[in-house]
Amino acid sequence: MMSQPQAAKRLQGTVLRSTGSWYRVRTEQGEYNCRIRGKLRLDGLKSTNPLAAGDEVEVEVLPDETAQAMVVKRHPRRNYIIRRAVNLARQTQIIAANLDQAVLIVTLVDPPTYPRFIDRFAVTAEAYSVPLLLVFNKIDLYGTAEQEELAYHTAVYRDAGYPVLHTSVPHGIGTEALANSLRGKRSLLSGHSGVGKSSLINVLAPELQLRTGRISDSHRQGQHTTTFAEMFTLSGDAEIIDSPGIRGFGLVEMEPAEIGDYFPEIFRYKAQCRFHNCLHLQEPGCAVREAVEAGDLPISRFESYLSFVEGTDDDSMYRQDQHRK
Ligand code: GDP
Ligand code: ZN
Repeated sequence: MMSQPQAAKRLQGTVLRSTGSWYRVRTEQGEYNCRIRGKLRLDGLKSTNPLAAGDEVEVEVLPDETAQAMVVKRHPRRNYIIRRAVNLARQTQIIAANLDQAVLIVTLVDPPTYPRFIDRFAVTAEAYSVPLLLVFNKIDLYGTAEQEELAYHTAVYRDAGYPVLHTSVPHGIGTEALANSLRGKRSLLSGHSGVGKSSLINVLAPELQLRTGRISDSHRQGQHTTTFAEMFTLSGDAEIIDSPGIRGFGLVEMEPAEIGDYFPEIFRYKAQCRFHNCLHLQEPGCAVREAVEAGDLPISRFESYLSFVEGTDDDSMYRQDQHRK
């Protein structure tokens, strides 16, 4: 007599990695490679990826399949980091979801990260309710000019309310502080490729043995397939989501009136503007412009703000590959 097919079992899980058509999901019964139920693709945002690392999902596991399953439901996201893909103006990509913080790793040399890029990332983090931690790496390479720049940017971002760390991998500076900041949290780690993200992760979690260096990196980029973020658990109760080196990070479309709210230090002055809907452009009685002129608000942040509001921010101008020798 043939046995009746057993019912599929439902499990709660967390997406560790997405490769476009397959999803690696962690459940309390182990990890599964999952497909996604077609209907799921249609709901929610118009992003290129229906699921991202960090997503909480429900998976259906067939009793006779040991390591395969189907994602049948995505739970609502607490928050996420999203970018507009370069060259695909209307396409957006969710980089990671359900984060305790986003760690943006930058460096002032080799290759320099431009403040506009930092601000695009910071505005996105504000807009989607993700706390930001800024890490300036490779400080061992900074000359006098870069050290002054570092002091300036550190003050600017700390005044805005963001924690800032300084690190050097070969000199072991700041890596302990970074490890402490990650403890007990789920963090997205992002940055241009070449800033030393893999090197830092290898210090924090030598067991992962991520490949580092320019050669493997250009190889990775040369493949032209989209690489996706991946979640790892570090000892000491930290989860990190390592995202591939970001070449372009385009702001998703935002209303001009909301952008000022995503610059915490600009937002603080807004109540003092004469008009409640002041965009801080040419309006009379604008407290924000007065603060910039008085030196109480940093010009670099205000210029980023203006370029986002006026739509003159051209992501391609800041792609680091154009600056690389
Ligand atoms: P990723 O693309 O961000 O993952 O960058 P990698 O970790 O692959 O590092 C790129 C290059 O920068 C490698 O040659 C690293 O050895 C080097 N590097 C990383 N961190 C530092 C640092 O703090 N100081 C110096 N001098 N070099 C670093
Ligand atoms: Zn104003």
